[in-house]
Amino acid sequence: MKDNNSNTLFFYGSTISPGFAEGVLHLQRGLTGPIDVPGNLQDYSTEYELSRLDQATAKITDDLLYLAGRVEREIDSKLAEVFGVHSHIINDKLLRDELRKEIVDNLVSASSAVKSVFLRWENRFLLMESAIAREKGDDFRDISIRLRNALAGITAHPFESIPSGCILVAQRLLPSETIFLTSRSTKAVLLEYGTTGSHAALFTRQMGVPCLSGIPDILNALPENAYALVNAQSGKVTVNPSQEMRAAFQKQENNYAQILRTSQTNASKLAVTKDGTIILVKANVGCNDDSCKAIKLGADGIGLYRLEQFYIGRLHPPSLDELITELRHTMAPFKGKPVCIRLLDVGSDKPLPFIGFLAESNPALGRRGIRLMREYPELLHTQLKAVLALREEFEIQLLVPMVTLPEDIQFVRNILDTLCNKLDISSPQLGAMIETPAAALSAGKLAPYVDFMSFGTNDLTQYTFAADRENATVEGYFNDASDVIFRLIAMVRDELPMMPLSVCGELAGHPEHTARLLQCGINSLSVAAPLVAVIKEKIRSVDLTG
Ligand code: PEP
Ligand code: MG
Repeated sequence: MKDNNSNTLFFYGSTISPGFAEGVLHLQRGLTGPIDVPGNLQDYSTEYELSRLDQATAKITDDLLYLAGRVEREIDSKLAEVFGVHSHIINDKLLRDELRKEIVDNLVSASSAVKSVFLRWENRFLLMESAIAREKGDDFRDISIRLRNALAGITAHPFESIPSGCILVAQRLLPSETIFLTSRSTKAVLLEYGTTGSHAALFTRQMGVPCLSGIPDILNALPENAYALVNAQSGKVTVNPSQEMRAAFQKQENNYAQILRTSQTNASKLAVTKDGTIILVKANVGCNDDSCKAIKLGADGIGLYRLEQFYIGRLHPPSLDELITELRHTMAPFKGKPVCIRLLDVGSDKPLPFIGFLAESNPALGRRGIRLMREYPELLHTQLKAVLALREEFEIQLLVPMVTLPEDIQFVRNILDTLCNKLDISSPQLGAMIETPAAALSAGKLAPYVDFMSFGTNDLTQYTFAADRENATVEGYFNDASDVIFRLIAMVRDELPMMPLSVCGELAGHPEHTARLLQCGINSLSVAAPLVAVIKEKIRSVDLTG
């Protein structure tokens, strides 16, 4: 959009990583991969191409090992795991056999075999219509580019030429590209593609680099080398700003920094309302890095440990020992504080590679969460056993996702009680996610099986308004702060006045709705770690007697 009287341009994107930044735009083109040089047919030999493929695979495996080490030291261990997964993929027997078959059956070069086989895999993931699966597609594209570069003898990476201190503009950010940004102190990143769960999101949030995505036709719309202001709070980019615009922007930036500083000072203290009610503010986490950050930022516990991150992308389910190790690692910073593990919520938009896919025409209404665990009880058994093995080390609560029927929660209750009876131990607290209208409307029937309930307002909104949470075209219908949602929450409170109630959906992280949530009977909240301080500060201003 153009300002009428000047050459100022405005663009809007969605926030991937919050913050403010200003600087010069650097447009990064040509990330589509190497040019595949056609081989000389006379020199072609299947054996030669197979051995080239083996050499390139070995080289990339070494590179990935080196990259993983560097990323772990310089950025974050979660991101380093991405390279471990890449190494796994590249050496996967199924994939290697498919590549070799492509060369032998079709008499093509190693490079074109890589291109077509990886494209097939990338497309399989893209077809899954899920944000997380699409991120996996990015992984395949990244490895394909690396392998073909290695086969073509190219060693330099296009990101090596990014100027220091710029605002990087690119279509997408692949995992291996992130490493080049650390040493260049990139001020902000603007993308055409990338969801809040993408590698770009993980990297930019971890580095504290503001990032917006969803800016259409970004490389043609934004002018190279222009000066820009990035407000990643509101999602606005101002290109060629006037002096007044710059001054106003700097004022906003200073205010933001001030609010962060003030709330941070009190972050580790408990949040108590004016009338003396303690409200625990916990964090949503998915891995050890998240919990390390959350404890530093003052979280009173873990209110939602999303286990999915550990399962998605694995070619086989974790063993009991692997799961225990991962749980212990993630929860370690929260010894002595409440930790709420949500049982695996996969299916729908989070498919598992090792569980065969049913072609569901409406996966969000299909078998996800507890529905999937009822179908594959061994998945549930492993999780419950891992939790029970850690019961003396941590103060664990369990949460069941996607509950719709009393039978869903009764199923978990029975298995948990049987396991506990066998071990002669008491059961950890069990809770139900209230994220379907049916669960909210039948809370009284769920109550006999649980010790607490937690509202997943993201899904509760999706299912109440029949508006896909991932679909931007029905965004107008997805209103998690609508009266309708508050009414559902209050209805549960009225039916079960003694039941501990929390909110772990995104709504919990909006300070403008904190007071209303508390008035509806919510007695703990769970939010993204950077929001803990702000929400605690807000709670301190609420008077529940008023
Ligand atoms: C929710 O639905 O609000 C929730 C917290 O679960 P998730 O976002 O993981 O589906
Ligand atoms: Mg949910």
